[in-house]
Amino acid sequence: LVVLAGVQKHYGQLHALKDIDLSVARGEVVVVIGPSGSGKSTLCRTINRLETIDEGSITLDGTALPAEGKALANLRAEVGMVFQSFNLFAHKTILENVTLGPIKVRGLAKAEAEKKARELLDRVGVGHQAEKYPAQLSGGQQQRVAIARALAMEPKVMLFDEPTSALDPEMIKEVLDVMVDLAKQGMTMIVVTHEMGFARTAADRVVFMADGAIVEENTPEEFFTRPTSDRAKDFLGKIL
Ligand code: ATP
Ligand code: MG
Repeated sequence: LVVLAGVQKHYGQLHALKDIDLSVARGEVVVVIGPSGSGKSTLCRTINRLETIDEGSITLDGTALPAEGKALANLRAEVGMVFQSFNLFAHKTILENVTLGPIKVRGLAKAEAEKKARELLDRVGVGHQAEKYPAQLSGGQQQRVAIARALAMEPKVMLFDEPTSALDPEMIKEVLDVMVDLAKQGMTMIVVTHEMGFARTAADRVVFMADGAIVEENTPEEFFTRPTSDRAKDFLGKIL
């Protein structure tokens, strides 16, 4: 579904992505881990073209990522993204946050968009908050709204970049639970996270990055019990 081949990315002198090859199949859940600065966010951002690449190719469903215009807007709709900070529109209600994209980009009628939004908000457990504004919700609730907002576009793949790292501990689980459900329902997901519990329960594959390169990839079971590279052993020694 998502295929990166020979992807290179530089920020000036810094070689941020080094010859990245990564294929994610439909329904697969890939967890990306690695030290700070290893290129995890950059990788995510190239997949919905928030960042351009210098070399190589990225395809979604066999089609190269479009460079601009309506095709790019459509691509962004097909690649849902949830960041560390929730990025909700502060002056719009929860319901409006979720219906905006489907109405503008997908051309849904307002009533239809609202019906769907309420279903999604129910699904992530914040259905009763639909008329409130983001600031009136907890961080965990806001992040679940951000997930619902991305899902409202019916994306082919969901990217998560450390979705729980800005949350208080007691809110982390409620967000991870929503993500685990999503994984079980067959959503294709690329998840950057330090939540190893999530990786163990939900990931089909763990990709370990260091210094802009994919150093190791394996099933969570293999990766956590028998990491092969020194970089991975060192990293796991620090976080587990
Ligand atoms: P973290 O775990 O801290 O989020 P990361 O693995 O997500 O780290 P990236 O944010 O992808 O790492 O950054 C990879 C490298 O690219 C870092 O050295 C970073 O400083 C650099 N970098 C990222 N974005 C930019 C940018 N817009 N301009 C210049 N350098 C950047
Ligand atoms: Mg990052």
